[in-house]
Amino acid sequence: MSSHITAPRGTQDILPPTSARWLALERRIHDLARRFGYGEMRTPIFESTELFVRGVGETTDIVEKEMYTFFDKGERSITLRPEFTAPVMRAALEHKLFGQGPQRWYYVGPIFRYERPQKGRYRQAHQFGVECTGYAGPEADFEVIALAWELVRSHGIEDAVLNVNTIGDDVCRPRYREALLAHFRPHADELSADSQRRLEKNPLRILDSKDERDHAFVTTAPTFESVLCDACREHFAALRAYLDAAGIPYVVNPKIVRGLDYYTRTVFEIISCVLGAQSTVCGGGRYDGLVASLGGPPTPAVGFALGLERFLMMLDALHGEVEQPRAGVQAIGLGTQARALLVPLVTELRRMLAQPVFMDYDDRKLLAHLKMADRNNARYALILGSDELAAGELVVRDLEARTDRRIPLGRAGDVAAALGEEQS
Ligand code: ATP
Ligand code: MG
Repeated sequence: MSSHITAPRGTQDILPPTSARWLALERRIHDLARRFGYGEMRTPIFESTELFVRGVGETTDIVEKEMYTFFDKGERSITLRPEFTAPVMRAALEHKLFGQGPQRWYYVGPIFRYERPQKGRYRQAHQFGVECTGYAGPEADFEVIALAWELVRSHGIEDAVLNVNTIGDDVCRPRYREALLAHFRPHADELSADSQRRLEKNPLRILDSKDERDHAFVTTAPTFESVLCDACREHFAALRAYLDAAGIPYVVNPKIVRGLDYYTRTVFEIISCVLGAQSTVCGGGRYDGLVASLGGPPTPAVGFALGLERFLMMLDALHGEVEQPRAGVQAIGLGTQARALLVPLVTELRRMLAQPVFMDYDDRKLLAHLKMADRNNARYALILGSDELAAGELVVRDLEARTDRRIPLGRAGDVAAALGEEQS
């Protein structure tokens, strides 16, 4: 016999009842994005590899080691999307959306990264994110942060902390680069292999390192504050003023630089400790140079991505498994004749009711049917046995209040009324 085939390492099956929690979160996300005026963008889960190499950056973890890349039958290099920003900008360019002024998009869906699987880190994960394009001013930075914060706040995640920083622009970033090079170069040999490789290409990324060997040198590195140009300083101050006015708590954290090459000025993360070590549930920032680097018109933009797995884990850690209220109806037909009468009634009820209608088709005792009702977390049982058949009645049992009432057998409308649902 062959052995069982299992899901690939680093992936998860999302099964009921957990999938209902995903669906509920996704619904709240769609609703939140709509209230902020964002439209959903859906892009393919695979793209040309070139898009991510150019759009994410060659010195990023993603492009250096995490991409799922393969050649298709036409010998094209294809990559499963490791993030959404580059694909969303690619789509916007392709459909000439940047010519139509400022834009607001959001997305929800799977991403793929070849990572070492561990708690909160998967090879297929899911992100919700937004992109706001066409605004160079701090209002847009504030707006996307406010949106992310609203999601976190509305779920009662008290432990989450908003970390903000600025990493400058074309004017002041080169100065910072020099300052960092001067700081790290004398210790080049002592840095981690990743950081040694990145030193000359992108020393900012060393600040982002999770490697112990880099830690001491990162702690003593100069901060951006010392070299920030006036325009960037003003932009950051205005953003902080908006955050203060909105009562959104934050800390300025000079070590936040974000893992992607395309960020300018504002960068931010929402960090939580509920998953053990500090972990980033949401990361984002401004990326004024990305659209142009993909061959589009110069377009300021700002956005974030939030990991749904980590978000749900935070909810679990904080609120535990929340008991779902009983909902729906278990239709119970005892015997062939009862079943034959119930099947069409159930069909009609499913058309009529907003709550789920469950029915089991096997011959079982009433008690076994009631057990199934419990498993389905049904609120009511609709019981049709031989006594009820003879009387032309149906028992509606409230499984929570443990009360029975009898209604005439036949009309679905009577059942709906007994369950307190109006007929539409
Ligand atoms: P990290 O520093 O944890 O590797 P990152 O900087 O690679 O995160 P982003 O690319 O900014 O993360 O992605 C945004 C969010 O998506 C992260 O904050 C996290 O919540 C989630 N995320 C990223 N990679 C994974 C993964 N492999 N598994 C689960 N969630 C992930
Ligand atoms: Mg990562």
